Amino acid sequence: MAEYEIYALKYAGPFTSSGALLMWLKDWEENVKRNYYIWCLKGPAGPVIVDAGVSPKLAKEKNLGGYVNPAEVLSRIGVKANEVQHVIITHIHWDHSSGVSLFPKATFYVQEEEYRFWLKDPIVTRPVFKHFQDEASNAHLSSLEETDRLRLVKGDQQILPDIRCVLAPGHSVALQVVAVNTAKGTVILGSDCAHIFRNYREDWPSSLIMDLVGWMKSYEKLRGIVSTVDLLFPGHDLSMSENYPEVARDVTRLA
Ligand SMILES: [Zn+2]
Repeated sequence: MAEYEIYALKYAGPFTSSGALLMWLKDWEENVKRNYYIWCLKGPAGPVIVDAGVSPKLAKEKNLGGYVNPAEVLSRIGVKANEVQHVIITHIHWDHSSGVSLFPKATFYVQEEEYRFWLKDPIVTRPVFKHFQDEASNAHLSSLEETDRLRLVKGDQQILPDIRCVLAPGHSVALQVVAVNTAKGTVILGSDCAHIFRNYREDWPSSLIMDLVGWMKSYEKLRGIVSTVDLLFPGHDLSMSENYPEVARDVTRLA
């Protein structure tokens, strides 16, 4: 079986909020910090990027603290964003999908249901949904529809050798995680299926919920796939930067 190395690349943060943002209805009085990441898998399929981060334009509009262009962070481990062939988008929220234009040669892998919801469903014009969206990158993705550069994934599917997209809804309508074989065993890059490790450990979601029942079922599903629970990685935990070997500035090796 092919093995991949996994890197976490921090491109913004840290940001501080009430603990209740990341632990639903708990920890109102506590402060919690979060970082923004993309991930890189190095292995037989070449570099495969998980999530696109935020475009420089949107980062400027949002005045995003600690922002470094994700393409610049990738260059620190020898990956040229403009040559990357594969980018998996876990879900269409701006902090995960806004940077698609940084990857002009890539094929993007998105769940079909996620794509249809955020790009076609009229309800997303309501403020509560718009809050998660970046219109420019949605238009970019939309321009790739019906081309080889947009692959709409249906449920659980192996997309590349020993790399599997796994449907894990809850935080978004059809969030997908990435299950990948490494020297440590099967790892899941879970993106925002959990924001921090505590979500998995305490079996408790963040406040950013679209489907609570679906979400709790996703936790069960992912625990059944990973080799050990510490190989189940969240989307925004600072410890991905702090508790793993640093291989370049803002880049750590997770497996
Ligand atoms: Zn996120």
